[in-house]
Amino acid sequence: MPQSVGRIPRIQTSIRILTNYPSKPMSSSQHTDTKSQVISTFHDHPTFSCSNCSAVIALQDELISKAFSGRDGRGYLIHSAVNMKMGKKEDRALLTGVHTVADVFCLGCNERLGWYYLKASDQSQKYKEGKYLLEREKLIKDNAWKLDD
Ligand SMILES: [Zn+2]
Repeated sequence: MPQSVGRIPRIQTSIRILTNYPSKPMSSSQHTDTKSQVISTFHDHPTFSCSNCSAVIALQDELISKAFSGRDGRGYLIHSAVNMKMGKKEDRALLTGVHTVADVFCLGCNERLGWYYLKASDQSQKYKEGKYLLEREKLIKDNAWKLDD
C-alpha cells in the first residue's frame, strides 16, 4: 500500500559536523544548532560509504557505538547520515523493546543499509531516537590515511 513518508529529518543534503564536540561556547546571539553543510566531499574526514555503490553515507566522527545488532549482524549507531531515503515507518520488536523505526536505503543503489529510530517506547532507549542503525556489512570504511583500530 502506498504511503506518504512525511518529512525526512536531516538526511540527503545536510549533515551536522562534529555535533559531539562543541569546541567553543556558542555565541548567545546565534542559533545553538551547529552549521549545516551540503555534502559533496569530506576532505580529510574518514567516512563510511555504501559497500555496494560507494556513496558516502556518514562521517566516522558521527559514530556513537559499534556494539549494536543489525538485522543480520553487527550494527553501528550513528548520529546522522546522508544519501539515504527512508522507507515506511513501523513498530518493530527489537532486543531492547518496541521501537518505531523506518528502514533506510542508499540513494545511489537502493540497498537497504539499516534503519532510523523514530521512537523508542522504553525510557532507557530514548537516546536512540533520531539516530541511525546501519548494518556493518553494508558499509565500507574509508580511512584516508588513518589506521584501523
Ligand atoms: Zn549504495
